[in-house]
Parts: sequence; C-alpha cells; structure tokens
Amino acid sequence: MGLYSAGLRTFVLPLLLKRDNRQKALRYYRFFERSQYWPRDMLVEYQWAKIRELLDYSYKNSRYYRNLFARLGTKPEEIRNIDDFAGLPILTRDHLFEHRLDILSSEYDLANVQEVLTGGTTGQQAILHRSYDSYNIKAGLAWRHESWMGRRPCDKMAFFWPAHVDLYDAGSWKTQFKRRYLEREVMYYSGTFAPEIMRRFYDDVTRFRPSYFKVFPNALFGFAQFLTEHKLKPLKLKGILSTGEPLFENQRRLFEELFQCRVFDMYGSREVGNTSSECEAHEGLHIAMETSYVEFVRDGKAVAPGEEGEILITDLTNFAFPMIRYRINDYGIPLDKRCSCGRQLSLMSPGIGRLFDDIWRPDGVKLSGNLLGYHLTTDHEIHIGQMQIIQESLTDFKILITDRPEPNQKSFEFIRKKMATILGDRIKVDIEVVREIPREKSGKMRYVVSKIASSRT
Ligand SMILES: [Zn+2]
Repeated sequence: MGLYSAGLRTFVLPLLLKRDNRQKALRYYRFFERSQYWPRDMLVEYQWAKIRELLDYSYKNSRYYRNLFARLGTKPEEIRNIDDFAGLPILTRDHLFEHRLDILSSEYDLANVQEVLTGGTTGQQAILHRSYDSYNIKAGLAWRHESWMGRRPCDKMAFFWPAHVDLYDAGSWKTQFKRRYLEREVMYYSGTFAPEIMRRFYDDVTRFRPSYFKVFPNALFGFAQFLTEHKLKPLKLKGILSTGEPLFENQRRLFEELFQCRVFDMYGSREVGNTSSECEAHEGLHIAMETSYVEFVRDGKAVAPGEEGEILITDLTNFAFPMIRYRINDYGIPLDKRCSCGRQLSLMSPGIGRLFDDIWRPDGVKLSGNLLGYHLTTDHEIHIGQMQIIQESLTDFKILITDRPEPNQKSFEFIRKKMATILGDRIKVDIEVVREIPREKSGKMRYVVSKIASSRT
C-alpha cells in the first residue's frame, strides 16, 4: 500500500502535474518541508522581505494601490517596519466589489488568472483573482499541512465537503479516474444527510479504503451519526483534517473515538487558501508565515495574545491580485507561545466569531453568541445533534435541533436551563425539532442567528 503510494508520488504525480503545467507545486512543497524548521528570525525576515516586495510591486502595477498610496501621501519605501504597515488601510469585500479590475496587476489580464469567489456566510459573494503561481504555492502548502497528520501526496484521502462551489469532482470520467486512482482523492458531497445518500457514501468509501479524511466537521458529523445509528462499522483512519468551519471539542472527541485517529484542525479560506494548521503536537494552529501575514485586530488595534480579534490577512503569494490587510470576516486568537514540535512558525487558535451573531439579553446587554454555542455543546451527558439558535426579539428565542439523535426531555430541560442561566429567566425559548438545519450558500452552518443584530449595531 505505502509502496504503491510512493511509486505514484515519485513517478506518476510529477507527470500529471507537468501535463497541467503545475510541476512547480511539488517544488514548493519541498521548500515548505524545509522552511517549516527555519529559526524564528529567518522566518520573520523572509516574511518581511515578501511584504516589502508585495508593497513595491502593488505600487508599480496595481492602479488601486497606486491611488491608495497617493491618497495617503506616502510611498511603499516609507513603510519601514511592521508598525508602519499596520497603519495601512484595511481591504474589505466592498473594495473587491468596487475596484476589482483596478486591484488586478497590469501584468496580468483576466485570461491568465483564476477567478475565485469570496467565502462569505452572509450577503453577496465578491469575485477576486489568483495567479496560477499562487495556486501552485498553495497546493504545495496544502501538502505540507496534510503531512503533519502523516499524509503524503497520493496517500488515499476522502473529502466530506458540503460547499457546492468546491465540488469539482463532477468532471469527466477521465478526471474522476485521475483523482481516484492516481492522485487518490475522492470527494463526498455531504450537504444533505439523507440516509440513502449516506449509505452510498458508506459503501463507496469502504471500497475506496482511505487512510485520511479531509472534512467540514458538520459534514463528517452527519456521516458519523449515520454510522452510529445504523450500527455500521466505521473505517479505521490515520488522520482527519478538519477545515471550513469551527471544530467543536465534542466533534473532535466523537471523530477520534469513532475513527480511532487524531483530528487536525486547519484554518483556510477561498480567498487566500490554507493559512494555519495543527501539527502533531496539537498546541495551536501554526501560521504559514512564508505565505501570509496574519493580524488580529479589534477596533483597528492589534489584540493582546490570547484575545480574540478580527483576522486580517496579507497574501504574500498572489501578486496578480494584491490582497493587503484583507478583512476576511473571520475571528482568531494569536497565541504567544512556541510549540513543543520545534517548529518556530507562530501559533493561533481559530475564533468562531463569524458563525455566531452577537445576542442581546432582555436588559439590552450584548453577549457574544459563541457563549451559547460553547455552553450548549460541552456537556458530555447530553447528546444533541446539529443546533441553531435564533434570537427573534429581545426575549424570544427559537432553537432548531436535528432529530438525530432523537432529542429527549432531558436535552430540552438542559437547553432551557442553560439559556436561562446565561440570558436570565425573562426569556422565552421555543425548541423545534427538524430534519436538517438550513445552510448558508457557502455550505457553512451558522450556529447563532440574531434577527435584531442589524438594527442595533
Ligand atoms: Zn507544532
């Protein structure tokens, strides 16, 4: 088995990549295998040199950034250190809507860049562009992150993916053959948990016999529930990479128990690809400092280590469409410690901001919605399937819970009691058992939705 993978990796993969003009991806992978063990100073120096290069390049080649610098009355050479850099304006999705073609470097045109949609959970998605070189760099980086759970290119891996946009297996039989038998990756689209579909997945995935899964945790959660309910024997895996949504501790526990392997959390996005991932030490997610500069801010200022802030990403690979201090609408926590694995790449922990609206107590006090998500999912005795909490008014809450596992009286009481502890006993909680929780267009699931949020912020 291992030998077959090694053979494919050594002889077949380079040819496949070459045919698609993507052979550089392997070179980047080998680079990242080395750079992950660079000393901290060297990583910081490399990162700063890339930031400088990107600033100079953007000023010369992107009309948007040239205008921006002119408006600020400054030039890239006046950005002398990371503090100066932190004074540059934030790039938002609105800017992508309004200035997309101005942001695009004059060295590229729409025919030689990829088109990417932003990953937003709410509202309309914006278009951005990515150079093929950036795409190859990100592919090399993805292999490095997979290698932290033990997977090397061409080791069998199954995807449980709910997002329509990311589903690219619907290609010709040739594409499907190439992916399944040569790259050895199979895609399971699990946006819906209908038993007949889950059964088909199960039959196929047991035939394919992957060693690794790459999943949206809610998608795998649905599959895991199906296996448990139907008393089907779970596959024995070597590692699960979880991405796309926050991974909750109860999900991590369930997956590790069921599939008898460790779960590795990874943070990435459509806009900039992989950003950070857990290594085998599981002490936080290592930021890929070679490809991105990540900031965590609140009210425009950097947060202290350990505090949750809004994530700003500067993509150091995509010169075709410079994204400098891009507000990705995600939250994260910078960690001020070194990992015991020996890698000096800085650590973060993913926040869960965006899938949780803020909520209000009846007395008008605002609370972070993830407080509810946290308190309602961490009791070992209470088994609740998927859940969505909707605040209809200051005092009225509706909670949707899926019907598998069948929620019992004890779960209902637990939820009501917790809600009253957090929000006071003036609130009314209406619990509704449903087949499925509706997802956002992106395939993500929002846990806490406030219908009064927009009118009060
Ligand atoms: Zn580590």
